[in-house]
Parts: sequence; C-alpha cells; structure tokens
Amino acid sequence: MPTPYAYFKGAIVPLSEAKIGVMTHAFNYGTAVFEGIRGNWNEEAGASYLFRVREHMDRIAQSAKILGLEMRDTPERLCELAAELVERSGYTEDIYLRPMVYLSGEVLGVRLHNVESDTLIFLSPFPAYLPETARVHTSTWRRVDDTGIPPRAKVTGIYVNSALAKTEAQANGFDEAIMLNANGHVSEGSGENVFMIRNGRIIMPTPADNVLEGITARSVVEIAQKELGIEAVEREIDRTELYIADEVFLTGTAAHLTPVVEVDRRKVGDGKIGPVTQKLSALFYDAIKGKNERYSHWCTPVRIPVAR
Ligand code: PMP
Repeated sequence: MPTPYAYFKGAIVPLSEAKIGVMTHAFNYGTAVFEGIRGNWNEEAGASYLFRVREHMDRIAQSAKILGLEMRDTPERLCELAAELVERSGYTEDIYLRPMVYLSGEVLGVRLHNVESDTLIFLSPFPAYLPETARVHTSTWRRVDDTGIPPRAKVTGIYVNSALAKTEAQANGFDEAIMLNANGHVSEGSGENVFMIRNGRIIMPTPADNVLEGITARSVVEIAQKELGIEAVEREIDRTELYIADEVFLTGTAAHLTPVVEVDRRKVGDGKIGPVTQKLSALFYDAIKGKNERYSHWCTPVRIPVAR
C-alpha cells in the first residue's frame, strides 16, 4: 500500500506526523512560497517521471529571494529529497509534490524579517485538475499587481486572489477564470498561464503582465519552436482578442495543457480543439511521460518498487 511521506523539520517522516502549530507565522499571514511539481506515472517503465523538478526548485529559490526568506536546503538537495519521498511513498499513479519555504516561527506580528523559516515537501495523488476541454470566463477579480504582492513569486497568500477567481468561475458554471491585470489586459488563469493562437502565431502575455513565469508554458514554447517551427510572441492581450482567437489553451503543472473551447460564452474558433493545440498537446503529453527522447532531460524517473 502506498503511504505518503513528507520532508518536515529536516527529516523524512510519514505525512501524518508532519503537523504545524496554530501560531505558525505562515498560517496566520500567508508568509510562504511554494511549488507544485508533477510526478507523471509511466506504467511501462514502472516509474514516476518528475517533470522539470530542478526548474521548480530553482523557482522556489527565486520566490524565496523575492520575499527574503532563508532556505534550509539548496535546490539540488531539494531535488534529491523529492525523489526520495516519491520512492518511499510508493504511488503508482499521477502525483503532485508540494515543496514550501515558510515562516515557521510561532510568533505574532506581520513582517518577513526576524521570524524563523523552514522548508518542507509533501506529496499527494493528483488526478486531472481540469476537464479535457475548458469553458472559461473573465473574472471580476483583477490579478494582483507586482506593486502589491508580486505574482512572479509563488506566494501562498497570493492564492486568495486565485481562489476568489476560481470560486466565482465555478459558481457561474465555468471551469476556470481568466484574470485581467490592473491595466485590463489578460493576465492568467487562477493556476495557469494563458495562450492564444491567431493567424498561426502563438501569443502569450509578457512576464510584466503580472503572471507567474510558468515552467509548463516555457516547455510548450520550446516544443512549438522545435517541433512545429512556430515562435511564440509575448505581448499584451485584450480580453476581446480571446473572443476572436483561432485557438486558446491553458498551461500549468496541475492543468498540463488544456484546450479552451469557450470564453465568456463565445465559442473559441468552431468550439472544437484547434489543430495547433492538438499537435502541441500530443507532443507535450509524450514529453512529460518521458516518451520523447528529445525531452527526456526534462524528466527525472523514480522507479517504484511494487509487488507485481
Ligand atoms: N500561473 C499561476 C497563478 C499558477 O499557480 C501556475 C501553477 N504553478 C501557473 C501559472 C503555471 O505555472 P507552471 O507551469 O510552472 O506550473
């Protein structure tokens, strides 16, 4: 039977033993940065393929730097710990790893300085996050700005912004929200980057549009360039451009690559998955399962010893 393990206070322990106190600073004030990493199960290989684990650990270090948080471990060490947790937990299905650097001190007072910090990692089984195709709407909630809480850093507290947008979207019958930034341009989904295709060009918002610089997005851009010969363009996108785009899709660790077939009750193209999205999606899913040698360097296979 798989049993989840966690890395907590410097040791690997059963997840059931990894508990924090109610006074923990990060719990009270959202003072933590985190990552989400997929372990994609490959049945033939009997292994979980951790997707771009090093890039995620480098990004948590960047998020910690933005907030000025101390890291207990180097990104390299966190990669080793992640692999060890996956092996020991023994899941033979898709999983999700959650590294976090958090203010662990049990003290009151809003600040980022003079509070103890720590690093943890836990994991959980994690099936598909969005339906195969998504219907989205434009949120009434605007994306937080770099001048408020920087979305470039994956800060736990910022996810209240995402949660407001996601809950509103689902309450209104949609699968996901598209948030606009303070300037009214398309920013991102509650947990995904947004792309559109117009006249054969792949277009995405710029890093200055208050988006998380997505690792999945970066991977899809590379696949588009190398395999389809299409360069992605970064520029501002208006809400109404999504209405007349030929294709729209979302990318993210949880969402993988999800085609969007409807925006604000308007069909995207003819309402079916478009040809470029289809090609990209097939290439992407092969890459994340370690089935395309050209991208095998993105995957860290962790063999799961199972009684067969
Ligand atoms: N934007 C937000 C707000 C997210 O939470 C995520 C998920 N981490 C993404 C974009 C996509 O980033 P990535 O592909 O690195 O998971």
